[in-house]
Amino acid sequence: MSDEQKAQYTSLEEIDQMHAALRAGFRSGKMKSIAARRTQLTQLGYLVQDNMERFKEAFAADLGRHPMEASFLDLLPTLSDTKIAIDRVEKWARTERAPFSLNFAATRPVIRKEPKGVVLIIAPFNYPVWLTFGPLIGALAAGNCAVLKPSELSWNVTKLMAELVPKYLDQDVVRVVLGAVPETTKLLELPWDHILYTGSGRVGKIVNMAGAKTFSPVSLELGGKSPAVIDPKCDMRTAAKRILWGKVANAGQTCVAPDYVLIERGAEDKFVEALKEAHKSFFPDKSYKEMSRIVAPSHFNRLKGLVENTQGTVVLGGLDEMDEAGKLITPTIVRGVKEDDSLMSEEIFGPVLPILPVDNVDDALEYINKHDHPLALYVFTQDAAFKAKVFDNTTSGSAVANEVLLQCATDGLPFGGIGPSGNGYQTRKYAFDMFTHLRASLDSPSWLDKIMGARYPPYTVRFFSCTPPYYSYLSFRMTCSLRS
Ligand code: NAD
Repeated sequence: MSDEQKAQYTSLEEIDQMHAALRAGFRSGKMKSIAARRTQLTQLGYLVQDNMERFKEAFAADLGRHPMEASFLDLLPTLSDTKIAIDRVEKWARTERAPFSLNFAATRPVIRKEPKGVVLIIAPFNYPVWLTFGPLIGALAAGNCAVLKPSELSWNVTKLMAELVPKYLDQDVVRVVLGAVPETTKLLELPWDHILYTGSGRVGKIVNMAGAKTFSPVSLELGGKSPAVIDPKCDMRTAAKRILWGKVANAGQTCVAPDYVLIERGAEDKFVEALKEAHKSFFPDKSYKEMSRIVAPSHFNRLKGLVENTQGTVVLGGLDEMDEAGKLITPTIVRGVKEDDSLMSEEIFGPVLPILPVDNVDDALEYINKHDHPLALYVFTQDAAFKAKVFDNTTSGSAVANEVLLQCATDGLPFGGIGPSGNGYQTRKYAFDMFTHLRASLDSPSWLDKIMGARYPPYTVRFFSCTPPYYSYLSFRMTCSLRS
């Protein structure tokens, strides 16, 4: 990080002031109405739409990202999620009646969908707009105020968001903190009504522990190694094309990128050939204009180290094609990789694809189940039984057949991990739910005491046998006797 960048970081005193200002903003009740929420959401949409070209330039500066890829994988999904929230927020926020129950119907039980309060959103570098504004859409739709802490690694996009947020959004409602570890540590010392952290598991643990100290609820969107299991009889060309795209998009710096491939030994040759063919069709002149760059020299060197230490066979790309000055790593395929290989030791998060040959699908499942639950699990097969076997015998954040990445953008689907790949769901309605408090509410009439008066002392058996809980007890006894 340059000194010039550090000089622009938010001071620790300012962080305290922002926290207090947003608390006051929330208490003022200005985000209570659906109209106010829609105004902020619409403004957020304009923020992205009006500044599309500037965002594309910032993506190019941070990640060497192709403008079309920046558009369809980051900016347009943000706009689409904004539109969905504007259209549906009224329905999402509607007070819900509890299911009818004879026992409690008279108390008119409802669930009020209330904002949690002031929330903190900490985002990573890889999809800096969608992973910062996406959760913000949910937070605003739910009526919260929010502090955003985008990544210092995607500095140009982060700086642009910090410049634009005060121009488009209410300062009592949204603020941006610029900074790295000290600033995030300071934020984590404060109490929040919810913290959403998206990033690595290492930092996720720090965030979880900090949240525990202030009773701040925490959702973690983490990463890990997402496998792709290949049926030897599948449409190999499509499988290779899609898997390679998963590693090429944003240079593999995608949390749900297929991390490695598990394939029957006898089918490895055919799959490698299909990958080479797909590579040729993506990059016919090998100029790699469409390839994003690795975000920072530290990440470049980490990836280089993993490839240097592999015991597998590099069949495409590799060390000779790496350009350290340009932070470019070309698609690198490594075959014949074993379980204890460097490439299997951590999430790759780069355009390097190890292929792990196995004897059969049972071995593939055993390998997956020996490791952390992945964020995504991919299977490539046209055989329903093969697909069912893989899905039914594993656990993962998402389970996808014959496709990659698209599950995150699919309207109506939750996006989140399980166990070490995270908890909580950060997209659309699911983000709204994450930032919403389900407030149980009753309004009980006085006449109910004619039925439920037995709850007051002195307790007598005669009255107790007239109460709804007693009817429930009788009905449960009846069910049990019917079963036995
Ligand atoms: P990171 O954990 O290094 O950084 C994420 C955020 O945490 C940044 O804002 C950073 O400033 C902050 N941070 C870093 N170190 C910190 C510390 N010691 N204390 C407090 N805050 C700290 O992650 P990254 O490198 O930006 O992103 C890559 C990781 O994110 C990968 O593991 C990837 O799989 C994961 N990811 C997950 C999702 C998802 O939705 N599940 C999405 C994108 C990325």
